[in-house]
Amino acid sequence: MSQPPFAIGLTGGIGSGKSTVADMFAARGATIVDTDVIAHAMTAPHGPAMADIVRAFGPGFADASGAMDRARMRALVFADAGAKARLEAILHPRIRDAALAAGAAASGSYVIYAVPLLIESGTWRARVTRVLAVDCAEEVQIARVMARNNLPEAQVRAIMATQVSRAQRLAAADDVIVNNAGIAELTAQVERLHADYLHMCRKFAGNFAD
Ligand code: ATP
Repeated sequence: MSQPPFAIGLTGGIGSGKSTVADMFAARGATIVDTDVIAHAMTAPHGPAMADIVRAFGPGFADASGAMDRARMRALVFADAGAKARLEAILHPRIRDAALAAGAAASGSYVIYAVPLLIESGTWRARVTRVLAVDCAEEVQIARVMARNNLPEAQVRAIMATQVSRAQRLAAADDVIVNNAGIAELTAQVERLHADYLHMCRKFAGNFAD
């Protein structure tokens, strides 16, 4: 039987710094599989999930290009938990399978799956070797998202309220990167963890000579 790959699941709340951290690991040789990018491709013009979305929600949820009408869908799922569950039932298994296929084909030293809702979704935990959470004080997180997306504070807090709490995320994590300070502090933590992961990866593969 072939060895399962050593894989990290990277998660964190909105604006915690997941993409910034993922870029730093990528620069050091890890392969990043970003489920947000895959999700976008699924609902791009005539993307692989579009036929099922139109079947489930009606043609009004596709725009003229054949992509999902994101604004309309966002409004629906915000107001209707059943619709949210139906959309997730279409998207989540496809995203997960496409991500795992990309990870299995990866050539980097190890794979990091960037999964914003890893803790919330439940099905990812068993598929990764370790969970890495990017943690950030709420006030820092809110300030960064307000600046990046030009959003009012109330809207950022509303999005955060749909995600698990910091405490729940930290309880589920094997490794934590604290991203309250600057890029230099973040880089130092990534350097340390990358060295640990290379070490664990060799051990995991059974090639480690102690
Ligand atoms: P999302 O959940 O929205 O995808 P994310 O978790 O991927 O966000 P990033 O996009 O990496 O978060 O970071 C959010 C914002 O904060 C970005 O504008 C990024 O440049 C900035 N940022 C992240 N970390 C730091 C840091 N240590 N110092 C300064 N700015 C930072």
